[in-house]
Amino acid sequence: MTECDFLLVGHGIAGAMLAESLRNRGQRVLVYDLPNPNSASNVAAGLMNPVAGKRFALSWQAAALLPAAATAYRALGQRLGLSFFFEALIFKAFGSAQEQQQMLTRSAENPWQGFVQAITTADPALPGVLAPHGGAWLQHGGHVAVAPLLAALAAEGQTAGWLRLAAFDWAALLPTADGRLNYADQVLARHVVCCEGAAAKTNPYFNWLPLTPNQGEVLDVDCPGLSQAQVLNRAAYVVPMGGSRFRVGATYRWPPFAESITDEALTELSSRLAGLTPLPFAVLGQRAGVRPAVYDRRPLLGRHPAHPWLSFCGGYGSKGVMLAPLLSEQMAAHLLHGAPLWPEADLARCVAKFYGY
Ligand SMILES: Cc1cc2nc3c(=O)[nH]c(=O)nc-3n(C[C@H](O)[C@H](O)[C@H](O)COP(=O)(O)OP(=O)(O)OC[C@H]3O[C@@H](n4cnc5c(N)ncnc54)[C@H](O)[C@@H]3O)c2cc1C
Repeated sequence: MTECDFLLVGHGIAGAMLAESLRNRGQRVLVYDLPNPNSASNVAAGLMNPVAGKRFALSWQAAALLPAAATAYRALGQRLGLSFFFEALIFKAFGSAQEQQQMLTRSAENPWQGFVQAITTADPALPGVLAPHGGAWLQHGGHVAVAPLLAALAAEGQTAGWLRLAAFDWAALLPTADGRLNYADQVLARHVVCCEGAAAKTNPYFNWLPLTPNQGEVLDVDCPGLSQAQVLNRAAYVVPMGGSRFRVGATYRWPPFAESITDEALTELSSRLAGLTPLPFAVLGQRAGVRPAVYDRRPLLGRHPAHPWLSFCGGYGSKGVMLAPLLSEQMAAHLLHGAPLWPEADLARCVAKFYGY
C-alpha cells in the first residue's frame, strides 16, 4: 500500500502544476493519469495572450497570472534542463479600418495595463504577413511547449514513483476508519483532487459542476518564409514552433462533438491562415481536443461541499496555460493552510446554484 498526502487524478496542465506546487511544499503526492495524446493540454498551442478577442479585452487577472506563469515555466525549464517557455511579442493584425479605429478609440482609455506595447496603423511589413491595416503589438505574453513539458514531468514522475499511468476508478475509492481514503487497496491518501479536465463532466462527485466543455482543433503547418519572430493573431493565432513550422488554432465546437478531426476545421483554419499570409503552406498535422470550459468562463477550484477530503482543480477553458501556475499555488495554499481562493475562481460560487444547497 502506497501512502501519500495528496492523490491527484489527471496530469494535464492543471494536475501537473498542482502536483508541482504541492511537492514544492513538501507534500507526498501521487498522480494517476490515463495518457491521452488528444487531451486539451497535449493539443494546446500553449499561447499566453494578455489581450484577446474581437473586443480587445484584457484577459482576466492577466497582470497577476502572466508573470507568475513565466516564472514557473522558466523554473521548470531550468530544473528539467529544457526550454518550455518562449516569451514573444504577439502581433494582433487589424482585420479592417473599422477594427483599427475601434482599437485606437479604446487606447485613449488605456485599458491594457501596459500589455499593449504599440499600435501601428501602417503595415509593419513582417516577412510573409498580410497586415494592410496595421495592428497592435502585445507584450509580456508568449507560448509554452505544453506537451513536451508534460512529457518531461511525466518521465520524472514515473522514475521517482509519483506518477502512475493508469485510469482512476472513482468507484474503488473508499473512506477508512481513520479518516483517510483507500484506493483499490493500493493507495492510502489524506486528500484526493480531481484534475480530470473536461472528463470531470462524468465524475460521480463533480458532475454537478457547471462545466460546458467545447471541442477545438488545431493545425500544424509548414510555411517557409513566414516570420517566426512573433505570434500572429487575426481570426486565428499562429504560434511559431521552430524552423518553418507553426501551430494554427483554434476552432470552437459545442456538443455534439466530432469523433475526431474534421474537414470543416481543416478548411476553416486553412482559410484563416490564408487571410494572414499569401505564402503557400503545407498541413503537417491536425489535432482535436476538448476544453474544460465553464458556464461563467472562470476556473473551478476548491473543496467538494459535502466531502472535505475531496477537491477540484480545473475549469481552465481556453486559458489553462496562463491560469495553471498561479492558481495551483493558490490551490496548494488553500488546501494546506486554508488560504482564500479568488472568489471568481472558487467553486463555492456554484454550490447554491448547482449542488442544491
Ligand atoms: C485545440 C485547443 C487549443 C488550445 N490552445 C490553448 C492555448 O493556446 N493556450 C491556452 O492557455 N490554452 C489552450 N487550450 C486550453 C487548454 O488546453 C486547457 O485549458 C487545459 O489544457 C486544461 O487542462 P486540464 O489539465 O484541466 O485538462 P486536460 O488537459 O484534459 O487533462 C486532463 C488529464 O486527466 C486525465 N484523466 C481524466 N480522467 C481520468 C481518470 N479517471 N483517470 C486517469 N486520468 C484521467 C486525462 O487523460 C488527461 O491526461 C486549448 C485547448 C484546445 C482543445
